[in-house]
Amino acid sequence: MKMATTAAQIGLDRETRTGAVTVPIYQTATFRHPGLGRSTGYDYSRSGNPTRQALEEGIALMEGGCRGFAYASGMAAITSLMFLFSQGDHLIVTEDLYGGSYRLFEKIFQQFGLSFSYVDTSDTEAVRRAIRPNTRALFVESLTNPLLKVADIKTLASLCRDNGFLCVVDNTFLTPYLLRPLDLGADITVYSGSKYLAGHNDTVCGLVAVKDPKLAELVYFHQNGAGAVLGPQDSWLTIRGMKTLTIRMDRQQENAQAIAQWLQQHPHVGRVYYPGLPDHPGHQLIKEQCRGFGAMIAFEVTQSHLVDRLLMRTQLISFAESLGGVESLITFPQVQTHADIEPETLQRLGINHLLLRLSVGIEDKDDLIADLEQAFAEGELP
Ligand SMILES: *Cc1c(COP(=O)(O)O)cnc(C)c1O
Repeated sequence: MKMATTAAQIGLDRETRTGAVTVPIYQTATFRHPGLGRSTGYDYSRSGNPTRQALEEGIALMEGGCRGFAYASGMAAITSLMFLFSQGDHLIVTEDLYGGSYRLFEKIFQQFGLSFSYVDTSDTEAVRRAIRPNTRALFVESLTNPLLKVADIKTLASLCRDNGFLCVVDNTFLTPYLLRPLDLGADITVYSGSKYLAGHNDTVCGLVAVKDPKLAELVYFHQNGAGAVLGPQDSWLTIRGMKTLTIRMDRQQENAQAIAQWLQQHPHVGRVYYPGLPDHPGHQLIKEQCRGFGAMIAFEVTQSHLVDRLLMRTQLISFAESLGGVESLITFPQVQTHADIEPETLQRLGINHLLLRLSVGIEDKDDLIADLEQAFAEGELP
């Protein structure tokens, strides 16, 4: 089945007693046992809850994985995956990574004896050079945040396989609609479902899909053992969001392409980072590997006072962190999402005092462009 069909049908067909078309919210902590040593399949909601399970089956289907998992946040999902590793293990990680993942690795998991090397994962050779005898995984963002570098997941996954370590892909910016990393050989896909999957800026959640049943068993053991599971209400909201992923993404991409082209010709704009632009370094690769270019844009303004002006004056586009929802958002990565990364690293990567990031929503593109236009215009700040 095509992705639009799989997505729209998540949770359907589960409830046989009443025939409810949407999966009910099983707001229960525990489940009655039918007899001694017997179970309905559900015992306690940390270990398994039918609403969460509908979501977990949904993400597994959308990813082509054997099993899916839902967590209280994207960070909870990534934390749970780190339990696959032990003291002394080394991971290779995308360098212009989500700031929260960097903080988790450097400030928390380093204390437990894991070590991390940060490399440009759009450069497969750089990944190869970073391999050590104790490397246990590559943690790669398929499309990076905020500079939108594109990783060659197929080549990287085979590099991981040849060297006997795991390929874990944070595919938050692309979603399974645009890229299915497990099909290309990756072992695990992880999402901040708070972004495109839930899609409405109303829920925080994390999702994981795993290809191999034995590995999935271990991921389940950690999910239940550490317990950072997604509650039934938020599982339901996430399912509701995921049903419309494909049509939202189609619209968001169309808007993003138009806005990126508009920004490119604007006199107050310098570099524009959008993989749908032919001069973007990852353009060819993303065209070959993915179904689309996504709806995130980063761009530099020509003078630093324009940063403040855009953040304060856009009316439709909200100055807020996060991304992927139906409402357009603008943020200032250096100060907001990437504040935990060392200043020298930010400077080297190009995450500077002129760089803004746009998450393009489903609004009308002409209205969004008009909003940016009036924000750029001369005059007093309000
Ligand atoms: C937001 C985000 C995360 C963290 O997810 P939360 O749901 O906010 O905990 C991880 N990776 C990427 C790429 C993200 O954008």
